[in-house]
Amino acid sequence: MAYRTVIPGLPGGPLETSFPVVIDLIPTWRHNRPGIKLRGAFETTQHNTSNWRTLARAEMNYVIGGAGGRMASWHYTADDEIVGVTLPVDEVGWHAGDGSGPGNMSTVACELTMQRAMVENPTRWRRARRNAAEMMGKTAARKGAPPPGKYHHDYSGKNCPILLRNNATWNQEYWEDYAAFYAMEREAMGATPPDPADGVIYIGDTVRTLVNLNLRQQPTTHSPVIATLTSGTDAVVNGRWASADGYGWLPVRVPGIGEGAVAMGDSSGAWLVKVADVPPEPEPEYVDAVPIPALLDTDLKKDYDTATGIITDDTGHDFIFTADVIEFVVPTVAGEFAVENPRPIKAPYTIGDRAIGAWLVENRQGVWHYVLAGGDDEWVRVPYANTRRVSDAPLLGDATP
Ligand SMILES: [Zn+2]
Repeated sequence: MAYRTVIPGLPGGPLETSFPVVIDLIPTWRHNRPGIKLRGAFETTQHNTSNWRTLARAEMNYVIGGAGGRMASWHYTADDEIVGVTLPVDEVGWHAGDGSGPGNMSTVACELTMQRAMVENPTRWRRARRNAAEMMGKTAARKGAPPPGKYHHDYSGKNCPILLRNNATWNQEYWEDYAAFYAMEREAMGATPPDPADGVIYIGDTVRTLVNLNLRQQPTTHSPVIATLTSGTDAVVNGRWASADGYGWLPVRVPGIGEGAVAMGDSSGAWLVKVADVPPEPEPEYVDAVPIPALLDTDLKKDYDTATGIITDDTGHDFIFTADVIEFVVPTVAGEFAVENPRPIKAPYTIGDRAIGAWLVENRQGVWHYVLAGGDDEWVRVPYANTRRVSDAPLLGDATP
C-alpha cells in the first residue's frame, strides 16, 4: 500500500510513502515553534525519544502542546504505523542541543519512538526503524543532501538516538534503509533534485493569479467573497498555508483591495504562481571572538562590580562589567562567544529564564549584548533588548544578608 502526502515545506509535490503520514503542526504562536527558515547546508538529524512509554501520536501531542514549556520541537515522529509531521520541513526546530548551530538551524529532525512493547516485538520494531529511515532518506533526496545523514550525537555529543547508536545491527540497518530510500526517491525524481524553493511559498512572497480567483474573508469555501481577483493580479502572502474544503489556502494582502484568503488550485493545476521571493533574512553578525584575558579570568569578584568603568579591548570593543541578574523577555538563542572553544552550544533561553550577564558589549552594528557564562569556560552572548535587568548578582565578598 502506498500513500501520497503533501509535506509542508518539502519541494517536489506529494511524497509517496509506505505508511500514512499524519500532518498536525505545532501552532505558530507556540514558543517552541520559532518560525525561522532553515538555512545553510541541509541535513537530516535522527533521534530516539528515550521514552519507553510513547508511540508517535503521544509524542506529537506533547510537542504540539508546547513540550511542557521546554524549548523543544522537531519535524517528524515515527513509530511502526505512521510518521507524524509537526513542523514544516523548511522551518527550524529545537532538537539538536547546539543552540544556533547547524544541527538546529540546518536540519530536519525525526524522533523515532521506542515504546517498550513495540521495541520488544521484532516485527514492529523493524517496521518503525524502516519508517523513520524511509521518511528521512526520501526527505534528504528531495532536499539534495546525499547519505549519510546525521545523528543527534553528531551535533551535541548526546547519546542519541540511543537505541540505534548502541546496537550495531540496528545502526547498520538504519543507514542501509536510508540510502536505499534516498536512491528510490532520487530515481522517482528523475535524478534531478528540485529547486529548494520550487513549490514552496513563504510569508512575504508575491504570488500572481493565473485565473479569476475569489478573495474570501476566511480560508473556506463558505466564507464571503471580498472581491474576485482578475487573472494576473499580484498579492503578498501574509500568513501560513491552511487546508480546508479540499483546497490549500493562502492568506494574502492584495494592494488596493484588502486582506483575505485564496485557494491555490485543484487537481487540474495551480491557480496562482510565485513571482517574487521575500528578501532573505540577514544572517546575524557578531564581532569576532578574540581572547580577552580579563573576561576569561574574572570570577565575578566585587572589584569589577557594576559600571566602574569601561574596558576597551585591543580591537576597540567596549566591555562593561555589570554582573546583572537578567530575565529573558523573549525566547532567545545565545550566540557564539566562545574564545577557547568556538562551538555554540548554549540551549535556547525561554521567557522567564534567568541568568547572570557578566558583561555588556557593543557589536559592530551598535547593538548591545550581554555576555553570559555558558559553562565549561565557554561564553555566549544574548541581545540586551531580549532581557530585563532584575538585580545585581551576589558576588564573592558580598556580606551574607
Ligand atoms: Zn536526540
